[in-house]
Amino acid sequence: MSHEAGWAHAPGALRGPAWLQPPADPNALVQHLWSQTAHKVDGELHVGGLALPELVADVNTPAYVLDEDDFRSRARAFRDAFAAYDVFYAGKAFLCTAVARWVQEEGLCLDVCSNGELTVALRAGFDPARIGYHGNNKTLMELRRAVAAGVGRIVVDSFDEIERLASITADGLSTRVMVRVTAGVEAHTHEYIATAHEDQKFGFSISNGQAFEAVRRVLATPGLELLGLHSHIGSQIFDSSGFEVAARRVLALQARVSDELGVALPEMDLGGGFGIAYTTQDDPSDPAQLATEMSKIVEHECRALGIPEPRLSIEPGRAIVGPAMCTVYTVGTVKDVQLDGGAVRTYVSVDGGMSDNIRTALYDADYSCTLASRDSAAPPVLSRVVGKHCEAGDIVVKDEFLPGDLRSGDLLAVPGTGAYCRSMASNYNHALRPPVVAVRDGVARVVVRRETEDDLLATDMGDQ
Ligand SMILES: *Cc1c(COP(=O)(O)O)cnc(C)c1O
Repeated sequence: MSHEAGWAHAPGALRGPAWLQPPADPNALVQHLWSQTAHKVDGELHVGGLALPELVADVNTPAYVLDEDDFRSRARAFRDAFAAYDVFYAGKAFLCTAVARWVQEEGLCLDVCSNGELTVALRAGFDPARIGYHGNNKTLMELRRAVAAGVGRIVVDSFDEIERLASITADGLSTRVMVRVTAGVEAHTHEYIATAHEDQKFGFSISNGQAFEAVRRVLATPGLELLGLHSHIGSQIFDSSGFEVAARRVLALQARVSDELGVALPEMDLGGGFGIAYTTQDDPSDPAQLATEMSKIVEHECRALGIPEPRLSIEPGRAIVGPAMCTVYTVGTVKDVQLDGGAVRTYVSVDGGMSDNIRTALYDADYSCTLASRDSAAPPVLSRVVGKHCEAGDIVVKDEFLPGDLRSGDLLAVPGTGAYCRSMASNYNHALRPPVVAVRDGVARVVVRRETEDDLLATDMGDQ
């Protein structure tokens, strides 16, 4: 370890994963992991023009802090880069009425995948014609409501669903649909598998002919207008090669539909899954680069197949909201644990955990964090940030170099928690789910309030 790279590892110290090095300046932010307005002033983290120690003095911790300008600028960057496409914000990453309004104001469409998400979108006044509806098991009731609300497209996922939609539209109603196909491509982070076996619950397989059959049945159903084919290959994807293989297979099906059924499908959706930087290991593409690569792929394939280019749509969720939010916790206890072999790991316990961020436990996800309430001159030590739940897997940040003098009452902030954290939050151990506080130009607005003990007891019917 050279001096230029920062603090040296103490002899015998725990090293953590190879990609994680002691920081050159432990008080500095790794800027690209944070939302655009985040910076430190004398060790205090500021977001949206507000000092987080002051903010949480009002709203308490844990709290999700949502940088509104950052969210809007990422949404705009996708809309501008994919100007010839429709961009659907994937609401399952994080949705509340305020965010649905921002999405609409920035000119994006919105994906929902449940009746609850549709309810939030409609309550926000989102134009139903710009809503897409997903899900592998939409009930008759949910489909009826979506059709009645006039959603812009329903992405059909099974033969059962085609029958349900046929019955709903039998008496003169109609709806626009896409057919979700599985292209046999499974992409995740830096690798993709092009011959992934299709042993999962979503979509119709292209390779076994079910996707073609689904297209045939939809075309034969009078109330259904088929917009095109839909493919979503995975999440946290960093390069376009998986999209390329998927697009080639989906467009080959499109060509077959054109040849054998005489129908030129006007649209095509390539899904979401664009990666973000959670730690210094991750190197995401920007929307402009993605747009260039994806349109090149589609243009090239369509030319090779001799078919007209469909109008494309994409569905980023994480890449818009993920970096826009951070979670602020208060440190409770700090404990040094001796490991086999003699090394010591410092466990830093915070006042939240797997109830507000399940991704570390669920996906073995990596996060980073920083001391957000003061500067420290103490040498950094490799630490593990854990929650307060009754579960050994309740880890927030597996490995991070944090100041060796971290103590009870310090604030820690974790960047990149906008996607799949509040939306997957639970009441495990009867935790109260934290608020989401939107910050912009020095003004804080609670867009989702903290739950109360009354909320916890609201569904408890007691001893009747
Ligand atoms: C989850 C999902 C997305 C969004 O994925 P991100 O990784 O958040 O971009 C888009 N489309 C579909 C069909 C999805 O299921």
